[in-house]
Amino acid sequence: MQVIDAHAHLGSCRVFDLEVRAEELLGAMDKHKIDAAVVMPFPGAPDPIRVHNEIADLAQKQPGRIYGMVNLNPHCDRDEYESEVRRCVEGLGFVGLKIHTVGHAINPLSADASKVFELARELEIPVMVHSGPGIPFALPSHCLPRAQEFPEVSVIIAHAGFTILTGEAFAVAKASPNIYLESSWLFADDLKWLISALGVERVMMGTDLPRNVGAMLAICNSAGLTEEEKRLYLGGTALGVFNIQG
Ligand SMILES: [Zn+2]
Repeated sequence: MQVIDAHAHLGSCRVFDLEVRAEELLGAMDKHKIDAAVVMPFPGAPDPIRVHNEIADLAQKQPGRIYGMVNLNPHCDRDEYESEVRRCVEGLGFVGLKIHTVGHAINPLSADASKVFELARELEIPVMVHSGPGIPFALPSHCLPRAQEFPEVSVIIAHAGFTILTGEAFAVAKASPNIYLESSWLFADDLKWLISALGVERVMMGTDLPRNVGAMLAICNSAGLTEEEKRLYLGGTALGVFNIQG
């Protein structure tokens, strides 16, 4: 069974006052037997391009363990955004795009967010969108019109509504088959309910921070999932959505 962390960060964040060093990220993966992680800069990274390079270096040193996700503020000119996205995806093999509705003050429905979904469609990679704290931009329902406009793009709702909006994340995913839910910070009961109501092939494990890896695995273990549900939730779903070789 492959265990994949679909949501991990590297570097520092001026928005949320966070810092994750490579040793911490890799140490938590080793300690908790995470086979691979999808790693991105924080939305408040002072220099996201430098962090993209660090992630690419790490991926090269740890083949099959680290996969990059682009996390750039989309409030810039299309050329600037597109050239860094292409460099990361076409040149460095990154597997997804992130938009942080709060950290980047980006409404998924806004004009500046259009280029994110257009590029994801062209490059055939998923878009992950922060949900939960930071409404209204972080409302899961803001992802639905985009998922319907871009049916070829897998849209991953990060934090699956963060418990308080998990019912809305479920409703949105139910309405559009290309929406997936990433579960970092969810309660065990919400996780169990989501997996039974929506189907585990639409739900994936993420941790967000190395300090949260053990907690998310404990929640998985206490949620009463079957072995097959665990296999898909802990890795199988993410392998498919990110098109990663297991
Ligand atoms: Zn995050």
